Amino acid sequence: MQASQAAATPVLTPTSTHGSNQSHRHTKRTAKDYIFGKLIGEGCYSTVFLAKDIHTGKEYAIKVCEKSYIVRHQKVQYIKREKDALNKLFNVPHGFVKLYCTFQDDERLYFVLSYAKNGELLHHINKVGSFQLNVAKFYAAELLLALEKMHANKIIHRDLKPENILLDENMHLQIADFGTVKILESDFKRGSSQNTTDKVEELKEKSDETNDRSRKNSFVGTAQYVSPDILQTRIDTPASDLWALGCIIYQMISGLPPFRASTEFLTFQKIMKMEYEFPEGFPSDAKDLVEKLLLLDHTKRLGANDIGDTYESIRKHPFFDGIDWDDIWNQTPPTIC
Ligand code: ATP
Repeated sequence: MQASQAAATPVLTPTSTHGSNQSHRHTKRTAKDYIFGKLIGEGCYSTVFLAKDIHTGKEYAIKVCEKSYIVRHQKVQYIKREKDALNKLFNVPHGFVKLYCTFQDDERLYFVLSYAKNGELLHHINKVGSFQLNVAKFYAAELLLALEKMHANKIIHRDLKPENILLDENMHLQIADFGTVKILESDFKRGSSQNTTDKVEELKEKSDETNDRSRKNSFVGTAQYVSPDILQTRIDTPASDLWALGCIIYQMISGLPPFRASTEFLTFQKIMKMEYEFPEGFPSDAKDLVEKLLLLDHTKRLGANDIGDTYESIRKHPFFDGIDWDDIWNQTPPTIC
Protein backbone atom coordinates (compact mmCIF):
# COMPACT_ATOMS: atom_id res chain seq x y z
CA MET A 1 0.00 0.00 0.00
CA GLN A 2 1.05 3.57 -0.56
CA ALA A 3 0.93 5.63 2.59
CA SER A 4 3.57 8.20 2.20
CA GLN A 5 2.27 11.56 3.34
CA ALA A 6 4.00 12.97 6.36
CA ALA A 7 2.34 13.10 9.77
CA ALA A 8 0.52 16.38 10.00
CA THR A 9 -1.90 18.32 12.16
CA PRO A 10 -3.33 16.25 14.99
CA VAL A 11 -6.98 15.51 14.32
CA LEU A 12 -7.77 12.55 16.53
CA THR A 13 -5.13 13.07 19.20
CA PRO A 14 -2.58 10.76 17.66
CA THR A 15 0.78 10.49 19.33
CA SER A 16 3.84 8.43 18.94
CA THR A 17 4.98 8.96 22.48
CA HIS A 18 3.70 6.14 24.60
CA GLY A 19 4.76 2.64 25.35
CA SER A 20 7.95 1.29 26.73
CA ASN A 21 9.52 0.42 23.42
CA GLN A 22 12.25 3.04 23.36
CA SER A 23 12.79 2.93 19.62
CA HIS A 24 9.24 4.14 19.17
CA ARG A 25 8.88 6.19 22.28
CA HIS A 26 10.85 9.28 21.38
CA THR A 27 10.76 9.11 17.63
CA LYS A 28 8.03 10.62 15.56
CA ARG A 29 6.99 7.89 13.20
CA THR A 30 5.35 8.10 9.81
CA ALA A 31 4.28 5.51 7.28
CA LYS A 32 7.66 5.99 5.59
CA ASP A 33 9.31 4.22 8.54
CA TYR A 34 7.63 0.95 7.55
CA ILE A 35 7.52 -1.33 4.57
CA PHE A 36 3.92 -2.42 4.23
CA GLY A 37 3.39 -6.06 3.35
CA LYS A 38 0.46 -8.43 3.11
CA LEU A 39 -3.05 -7.73 4.31
CA ILE A 40 -3.62 -9.70 7.52
CA GLY A 41 -7.09 -8.65 8.51
CA GLU A 42 -10.08 -6.49 7.88
CA GLY A 43 -12.50 -5.07 10.38
CA CYS A 44 -15.59 -2.94 10.08
CA TYR A 45 -13.58 0.25 10.02
CA SER A 46 -9.98 -0.79 9.52
CA THR A 47 -7.57 -2.74 7.41
CA VAL A 48 -4.62 -4.44 9.07
CA PHE A 49 -1.30 -4.94 7.30
CA LEU A 50 1.87 -6.74 8.19
CA ALA A 51 4.64 -4.14 8.15
CA LYS A 52 8.36 -4.09 8.78
CA ASP A 53 10.11 -1.28 10.63
CA ILE A 54 12.85 -0.16 8.24
CA HIS A 55 15.13 0.83 11.13
CA THR A 56 14.91 -2.34 13.23
CA GLY A 57 13.58 -4.96 10.84
CA LYS A 58 10.91 -5.80 13.42
CA GLU A 59 7.49 -6.87 12.19
CA TYR A 60 4.29 -5.18 13.32
CA ALA A 61 0.61 -5.36 12.52
CA ILE A 62 -0.42 -1.88 11.43
CA LYS A 63 -4.10 -1.12 11.68
CA VAL A 64 -5.04 1.55 9.15
CA CYS A 65 -8.26 3.54 9.40
CA GLU A 66 -9.52 5.94 6.74
CA LYS A 67 -10.21 9.26 8.44
CA SER A 68 -13.10 10.11 6.13
CA TYR A 69 -14.78 6.80 6.97
CA ILE A 70 -14.23 7.28 10.69
CA VAL A 71 -15.72 10.75 10.65
CA ARG A 72 -18.56 9.85 8.29
CA HIS A 73 -19.55 6.86 10.43
CA GLN A 74 -19.04 8.70 13.72
CA LYS A 75 -16.33 6.35 14.94
CA VAL A 76 -14.01 8.98 16.40
CA GLN A 77 -14.95 7.90 19.93
CA TYR A 78 -14.24 4.26 19.07
CA ILE A 79 -10.75 5.15 17.92
CA LYS A 80 -10.05 7.20 21.02
CA ARG A 81 -11.32 4.48 23.32
CA GLU A 82 -9.33 1.82 21.52
CA LYS A 83 -6.18 3.85 21.94
CA ASP A 84 -6.89 4.63 25.61
CA ALA A 85 -7.56 0.98 26.42
CA LEU A 86 -4.46 -0.25 24.62
CA ASN A 87 -2.36 2.38 26.41
CA LYS A 88 -3.75 1.29 29.76
CA LEU A 89 -2.88 -2.33 29.01
CA PHE A 90 0.55 -1.70 27.53
CA ASN A 91 2.43 -2.77 30.62
CA VAL A 92 0.41 -5.92 31.23
CA PRO A 93 2.95 -8.53 30.12
CA HIS A 94 0.57 -11.11 28.68
CA GLY A 95 -2.83 -11.47 27.12
CA PHE A 96 -3.13 -8.41 24.88
CA VAL A 97 -1.80 -7.06 21.62
CA LYS A 98 0.42 -4.07 22.32
CA LEU A 99 0.09 -0.63 20.83
CA TYR A 100 3.57 0.75 20.20
CA CYS A 101 2.61 4.03 18.59
CA THR A 102 0.06 5.84 16.50
CA PHE A 103 0.49 8.38 13.75
CA GLN A 104 -1.47 9.82 10.89
CA ASP A 105 -1.23 11.35 7.47
CA ASP A 106 -3.77 13.44 5.61
CA GLU A 107 -6.08 10.54 4.93
CA ARG A 108 -5.40 7.81 7.44
CA LEU A 109 -4.76 6.90 11.06
CA TYR A 110 -2.22 4.21 11.88
CA PHE A 111 -2.02 1.97 14.96
CA VAL A 112 1.32 0.15 15.19
CA LEU A 113 0.53 -3.09 17.04
CA SER A 114 2.50 -6.15 18.04
CA TYR A 115 1.98 -8.80 15.39
CA ALA A 116 0.05 -11.86 16.54
CA LYS A 117 1.60 -14.22 14.06
CA ASN A 118 -0.74 -17.15 14.48
CA GLY A 119 -3.91 -15.23 13.77
CA GLU A 120 -7.43 -15.60 15.00
CA LEU A 121 -8.58 -18.26 17.47
CA LEU A 122 -11.59 -18.70 15.19
CA HIS A 123 -9.35 -19.88 12.39
CA HIS A 124 -7.82 -22.54 14.66
CA ILE A 125 -11.22 -23.74 15.92
CA ASN A 126 -12.51 -23.98 12.37
CA LYS A 127 -9.39 -25.75 11.16
CA VAL A 128 -9.79 -28.67 13.57
CA GLY A 129 -13.58 -28.50 14.00
CA SER A 130 -13.40 -28.29 17.79
CA PHE A 131 -10.69 -28.36 20.44
CA GLN A 132 -9.67 -31.30 22.58
CA LEU A 133 -10.62 -30.66 26.19
CA ASN A 134 -7.06 -29.90 27.36
CA VAL A 135 -6.64 -27.33 24.57
CA ALA A 136 -9.98 -25.66 25.35
CA LYS A 137 -9.11 -25.62 29.03
CA PHE A 138 -5.72 -24.01 28.38
CA TYR A 139 -7.09 -21.20 26.19
CA ALA A 140 -10.09 -20.66 28.48
CA ALA A 141 -7.62 -20.24 31.36
CA GLU A 142 -5.49 -17.72 29.43
CA LEU A 143 -8.63 -15.85 28.43
CA LEU A 144 -9.79 -15.73 32.04
CA LEU A 145 -6.41 -14.35 33.17
CA ALA A 146 -6.57 -11.69 30.46
CA LEU A 147 -10.12 -10.78 31.52
CA GLU A 148 -8.93 -10.42 35.12
CA LYS A 149 -6.28 -7.92 34.04
CA MET A 150 -8.63 -6.05 31.76
CA HIS A 151 -11.36 -5.74 34.39
CA ALA A 152 -8.80 -4.79 37.07
CA ASN A 153 -7.92 -1.93 34.71
CA LYS A 154 -11.63 -1.04 34.57
CA ILE A 155 -11.95 -1.98 30.94
CA ILE A 156 -14.92 -3.94 29.62
CA HIS A 157 -14.25 -5.31 26.15
CA ARG A 158 -17.90 -5.78 25.04
CA ASP A 159 -17.00 -7.53 21.80
CA LEU A 160 -15.13 -10.66 22.82
CA LYS A 161 -15.33 -13.33 20.16
CA PRO A 162 -12.93 -15.83 18.60
CA GLU A 163 -12.15 -13.35 15.76
CA ASN A 164 -10.84 -10.86 18.31
CA ILE A 165 -8.74 -13.37 20.19
CA LEU A 166 -5.40 -13.79 18.48
CA LEU A 167 -2.49 -16.17 18.98
CA ASP A 168 1.08 -14.90 19.08
CA GLU A 169 4.17 -16.59 17.64
CA ASN A 170 4.32 -18.93 20.66
CA MET A 171 0.62 -19.75 20.41
CA HIS A 172 -0.28 -17.77 23.52
CA LEU A 173 -3.51 -15.84 23.54
CA GLN A 174 -3.80 -12.10 22.98
CA ILE A 175 -7.03 -10.11 23.04
CA ALA A 176 -7.38 -7.57 20.21
CA ASP A 177 -9.88 -5.03 18.86
CA PHE A 178 -10.65 -2.61 21.66
CA GLY A 179 -12.85 -0.42 19.46
CA THR A 180 -16.02 -1.08 21.45
CA VAL A 181 -14.56 -1.06 24.95
CA LYS A 182 -16.07 0.76 27.87
CA ILE A 183 -13.57 2.30 30.25
CA LEU A 184 -15.17 2.70 33.65
CA GLU A 185 -14.35 5.80 35.62
CA SER A 186 -15.09 4.73 39.16
CA ASP A 187 -14.75 1.54 41.19
CA PHE A 188 -17.22 -1.13 40.33
CA LYS A 189 -18.39 -4.48 41.55
CA ARG A 190 -18.01 -7.01 38.80
CA GLY A 191 -21.71 -7.80 38.50
CA SER A 192 -22.94 -4.28 39.15
CA SER A 193 -24.07 -1.84 36.53
CA GLN A 194 -23.00 1.75 36.62
CA ASN A 195 -22.97 2.85 33.05
CA THR A 196 -25.66 3.08 30.50
CA THR A 197 -24.66 2.44 26.95
CA ASP A 198 -25.59 2.93 23.38
CA LYS A 199 -24.62 -0.69 22.70
CA VAL A 200 -27.82 -1.54 20.86
CA GLU A 201 -27.28 1.40 18.54
CA GLU A 202 -23.66 0.34 18.19
CA LEU A 203 -24.78 -3.15 17.32
CA LYS A 204 -27.19 -1.77 14.79
CA GLU A 205 -24.42 0.34 13.29
CA LYS A 206 -22.14 -2.68 13.30
CA SER A 207 -24.85 -4.71 11.67
CA ASP A 208 -25.20 -2.11 8.93
CA GLU A 209 -21.44 -2.09 8.51
CA THR A 210 -21.45 -5.85 8.50
CA ASN A 211 -23.96 -5.81 5.68
CA ASP A 212 -21.72 -3.37 3.83
CA ARG A 213 -18.75 -5.58 4.39
CA SER A 214 -20.53 -8.82 3.62
CA ARG A 215 -21.18 -7.46 0.18
CA LYS A 216 -17.42 -7.09 -0.15
CA ASN A 217 -16.08 -10.26 1.43
CA SER A 218 -18.87 -12.45 2.85
CA PHE A 219 -18.31 -11.51 6.47
CA VAL A 220 -20.24 -13.46 9.13
CA GLY A 221 -22.23 -11.57 11.78
CA THR A 222 -21.03 -10.80 15.27
CA ALA A 223 -24.18 -10.95 17.39
CA GLN A 224 -23.63 -14.39 18.86
CA TYR A 225 -21.59 -13.29 21.85
CA VAL A 226 -23.67 -10.32 23.06
CA SER A 227 -25.03 -10.73 26.56
CA PRO A 228 -28.75 -10.38 27.29
CA ASP A 229 -28.08 -7.60 29.80
CA ILE A 230 -26.54 -5.47 27.08
CA LEU A 231 -29.35 -6.28 24.68
CA GLN A 232 -32.18 -5.75 27.11
CA THR A 233 -31.15 -3.12 29.60
CA ARG A 234 -28.29 -1.43 27.78
CA ILE A 235 -26.12 -1.65 30.83
CA ASP A 236 -22.46 -2.46 30.84
CA THR A 237 -20.83 -4.60 33.45
CA PRO A 238 -17.72 -6.75 33.34
CA ALA A 239 -20.16 -9.67 33.58
CA SER A 240 -20.99 -9.16 29.90
CA ASP A 241 -17.44 -10.32 29.13
CA LEU A 242 -18.05 -13.33 31.42
CA TRP A 243 -21.06 -14.18 29.27
CA ALA A 244 -18.82 -14.04 26.19
CA LEU A 245 -16.31 -16.28 28.00
CA GLY A 246 -19.09 -18.85 28.42
CA CYS A 247 -19.95 -18.62 24.70
CA ILE A 248 -16.30 -18.99 23.69
CA ILE A 249 -15.70 -22.02 25.96
CA TYR A 250 -18.82 -23.60 24.45
CA GLN A 251 -17.52 -22.87 20.94
CA MET A 252 -14.00 -24.19 21.55
CA ILE A 253 -15.47 -27.50 22.72
CA SER A 254 -18.40 -27.90 20.34
CA GLY A 255 -17.08 -26.02 17.29
CA LEU A 256 -19.95 -23.52 17.07
CA PRO A 257 -21.22 -20.68 19.24
CA PRO A 258 -24.22 -21.56 21.45
CA PHE A 259 -26.63 -19.00 19.94
CA ARG A 260 -26.91 -19.23 16.18
CA ALA A 261 -29.60 -18.19 13.75
CA SER A 262 -29.92 -17.00 10.19
CA THR A 263 -30.20 -13.31 11.14
CA GLU A 264 -28.89 -11.14 13.93
CA PHE A 265 -32.44 -10.42 15.05
CA LEU A 266 -33.20 -14.13 15.45
CA THR A 267 -29.88 -14.64 17.24
CA PHE A 268 -30.80 -11.87 19.69
CA GLN A 269 -34.16 -13.56 20.29
CA LYS A 270 -32.46 -16.87 21.04
CA ILE A 271 -30.14 -15.14 23.49
CA MET A 272 -33.02 -13.45 25.29
CA LYS A 273 -34.87 -16.78 25.54
CA MET A 274 -31.69 -18.66 26.48
CA GLU A 275 -32.38 -21.01 23.61
CA TYR A 276 -29.30 -23.17 23.27
CA GLU A 277 -28.40 -26.81 23.68
CA PHE A 278 -25.29 -28.79 24.46
CA PRO A 279 -24.31 -31.36 21.87
CA GLU A 280 -24.13 -34.96 22.97
CA GLY A 281 -20.90 -35.81 24.74
CA PHE A 282 -20.20 -32.24 25.91
CA PRO A 283 -18.05 -32.80 29.03
CA SER A 284 -20.00 -32.36 32.27
CA ASP A 285 -17.56 -29.98 34.02
CA ALA A 286 -17.45 -27.75 30.96
CA LYS A 287 -21.25 -27.86 30.74
CA ASP A 288 -21.58 -26.85 34.37
CA LEU A 289 -19.18 -23.92 33.92
CA VAL A 290 -20.88 -22.70 30.74
CA GLU A 291 -24.28 -22.91 32.46
CA LYS A 292 -22.95 -20.83 35.36
CA LEU A 293 -21.60 -18.17 32.98
CA LEU A 294 -24.59 -18.08 30.62
CA LEU A 295 -27.11 -16.77 33.12
CA LEU A 296 -29.66 -14.15 32.12
CA ASP A 297 -29.18 -12.34 35.41
CA HIS A 298 -25.70 -10.86 35.08
CA THR A 299 -25.38 -10.45 38.86
CA LYS A 300 -25.62 -14.23 39.27
CA ARG A 301 -22.96 -15.21 36.75
CA LEU A 302 -20.03 -17.07 38.20
CA GLY A 303 -17.39 -14.48 39.10
CA ALA A 304 -19.78 -11.51 39.10
CA ASN A 305 -19.55 -11.15 42.86
CA ASP A 306 -15.90 -12.02 43.32
CA ILE A 307 -13.88 -9.53 45.30
CA GLY A 308 -10.38 -8.44 44.32
CA ASP A 309 -8.63 -8.61 41.00
CA THR A 310 -8.96 -12.34 40.31
CA TYR A 311 -11.97 -14.41 39.40
CA GLU A 312 -11.38 -16.95 42.18
CA SER A 313 -14.77 -18.64 41.86
CA ILE A 314 -14.13 -19.31 38.18
CA ARG A 315 -10.53 -20.38 38.73
CA LYS A 316 -11.74 -22.88 41.32
CA HIS A 317 -14.37 -24.43 39.07
CA PRO A 318 -13.60 -28.16 38.45
CA PHE A 319 -13.33 -27.48 34.70
CA PHE A 320 -10.01 -25.77 35.44
CA ASP A 321 -8.60 -28.57 37.64
CA GLY A 322 -4.88 -28.94 36.97
CA ILE A 323 -4.32 -25.39 35.63
CA ASP A 324 -1.25 -23.72 37.08
CA TRP A 325 -2.51 -20.14 37.22
CA ASP A 326 0.89 -18.68 38.09
CA ASP A 327 2.81 -20.33 35.29
CA ILE A 328 0.47 -20.66 32.36
CA TRP A 329 2.04 -17.88 30.24
CA ASN A 330 5.43 -19.61 30.56
CA GLN A 331 4.12 -22.99 29.52
CA THR A 332 4.20 -24.37 26.01
CA PRO A 333 0.56 -24.37 24.90
CA PRO A 334 -0.86 -27.79 24.06
CA THR A 335 -0.90 -28.60 20.36
CA ILE A 336 -4.22 -27.65 18.86
CA CYS A 337 -6.09 -30.74 17.79
P1 ATP B 1 -14.24 -5.24 14.04
O1 ATP B 1 -15.03 -5.31 12.78
O2 ATP B 1 -14.18 -6.59 14.71
O3 ATP B 1 -14.64 -4.15 14.97
P2 ATP B 1 -11.80 -3.71 13.58
O4 ATP B 1 -12.01 -2.82 12.42
O5 ATP B 1 -11.80 -3.08 14.92
O6 ATP B 1 -12.77 -4.95 13.53
P3 ATP B 1 -9.69 -5.51 14.30
O7 ATP B 1 -10.69 -6.54 14.80
O8 ATP B 1 -8.85 -4.86 15.30
O9 ATP B 1 -10.42 -4.45 13.38
O10 ATP B 1 -8.77 -6.19 13.21
C1 ATP B 1 -9.32 -6.92 12.11
C2 ATP B 1 -8.60 -8.23 11.96
O11 ATP B 1 -7.21 -7.97 11.69
C3 ATP B 1 -8.58 -9.10 13.23
O12 ATP B 1 -9.73 -9.87 13.36
C4 ATP B 1 -7.32 -9.94 12.97
O13 ATP B 1 -7.58 -10.99 12.08
C5 ATP B 1 -6.39 -8.95 12.29
N1 ATP B 1 -5.52 -8.32 13.29
C6 ATP B 1 -5.80 -7.21 14.03
N2 ATP B 1 -4.80 -6.90 14.85
C7 ATP B 1 -3.83 -7.83 14.65
C8 ATP B 1 -2.54 -8.07 15.23
N3 ATP B 1 -2.05 -7.28 16.16
N4 ATP B 1 -1.84 -9.13 14.77
C9 ATP B 1 -2.34 -9.95 13.82
N5 ATP B 1 -3.55 -9.77 13.24
C10 ATP B 1 -4.30 -8.73 13.65
